[in-house]
Amino acid sequence: NELASMMDVSVTQIIATCMSLGLFVSINQRLDAETISIVAGEFGFDVNFITSDDQDDLLEEEDAEEDLVGRHPIVTVMGHVDHGKTSLLDYVRKANVIAGEAGSITQHIGAYEVGLDDGRKITFLDTPGHEAFTAMRARGAKVTDVVIIVIAADDSVMPQTIEAINHAQAAGVPMVFAFNKMDKQGASADKIREQLANMNILVEEWGGKFQTQEISAKSGMGVDDLLDKVLLEAELLDLKANPEKKALGTVIEAAMEKGRGVVTTVLIQAGTLRVGEPILAGQFSGRVKALFNERGKKIEKAGPATPVQVLGMQGAPQAGDRFNAVETEQEAKDIATRRQQLQREQGLRTQKHITLDEIGRRLAIGNFKELNLIVKGDVDGSVEALSDSLLKLSTEEIQINVIHKSVGQISESDVLLASASDAIILGFQVRPSPQARRLAEQEEIDIRLYSVIYKAIEEIKAAMEGLLTPDV
Ligand code: GDP
Repeated sequence: NELASMMDVSVTQIIATCMSLGLFVSINQRLDAETISIVAGEFGFDVNFITSDDQDDLLEEEDAEEDLVGRHPIVTVMGHVDHGKTSLLDYVRKANVIAGEAGSITQHIGAYEVGLDDGRKITFLDTPGHEAFTAMRARGAKVTDVVIIVIAADDSVMPQTIEAINHAQAAGVPMVFAFNKMDKQGASADKIREQLANMNILVEEWGGKFQTQEISAKSGMGVDDLLDKVLLEAELLDLKANPEKKALGTVIEAAMEKGRGVVTTVLIQAGTLRVGEPILAGQFSGRVKALFNERGKKIEKAGPATPVQVLGMQGAPQAGDRFNAVETEQEAKDIATRRQQLQREQGLRTQKHITLDEIGRRLAIGNFKELNLIVKGDVDGSVEALSDSLLKLSTEEIQINVIHKSVGQISESDVLLASASDAIILGFQVRPSPQARRLAEQEEIDIRLYSVIYKAIEEIKAAMEGLLTPDV
């Protein structure tokens, strides 16, 4: 309706144009930016978007090169359960508490910063595991610069190790491998190197590109060297941020605390946050009443790559929500209200994910180049067979990526990965768990179940040729 009146054409014409693109819309439906461009194009209009995405009301200005200064890396620890993620995070936290500093007992606030002897710093996200990492990514937050994959060397590469690797790779985040529990009898780092090599992950010692470090999270052996390697990896990324502008960052966690109100842990990613500034996070606004570091010490300001506890939000935002300092409280309030409105209109979803049926439409638009798939199956043989056949469907126009494949039912973690990487999930002789099904509905992830391999291949092939008719 809005688009029709802006272009001065009838609503029916807009609906008809959408239908010709395979999109069935109602009169008061919100269209995504891409559809608006195409529909407007059909009527001879050029669209100029003055906001950066669907709900973005805050324009992010490009930083001038001379304003950018180096920042330290933000790191997430992932790996199989019991391989030592928490132990590693705890060891690093304890070993790096600056001696004698007041209130030096570090609290769990979701992230902490450590300083090395030579003055370099690393910020660790304190929620280990790929679920948290991918949940953030599914909400559009890109926080982690480097991932540490912890593998117990007295055990083996396990299913969650593989998941963690796939999740990190899907995000395009570099990995450093920590072979843990080297103090234990029977620990063999070479066995792990070999298992990784079998998954096409070649470590540096064997001529590959992945750095590894043998450690004991219990005794601390090798941990310093591990941090050195993480910093080396970060150096290659040449991480920079402008500390001089209004702060922006990501919410790590938020909770109501007695006597303190809403306490929000924010990772500042650029700019500097100061006490007294009007702020905005997700759908809530506020003003910074006080700032605390992870040692519970009151601070006046927080710059890029620092985690900070913020007091003064009017409501509790969600992990992964974007955080901004703004000019005035009124501006913060207005944007928060607008976001709440938008949320009501659209339901929880803000992002449209790819479905097999939609491929035809995207192809017609001409901006579809990559199809990300997650393959789950009942046995290894069929997972491999299906993945191989799918990869062979790649054409010059569309590249097929199997971003994750494994044996077992379709889990919430698979759905999160699909949401974060805009992927379709294919299940062969397996079904989603009830939680995964619910999450898939909420995130609008296409899950396709098959019991015959060629059926799956045929359907994907048809979709890629734009032949699937949308079921309505
Ligand atoms: P997470 O599930 O990956 O967070 O693993 P945890 O950090 O909870 O560790 C699982 C178990 O392994 C705990 O009992 C730890 O004490 C033990 N552990 C962790 N790292 C080491 C290590 O380097 N050496 C030994 N011997 N035990 C370890």
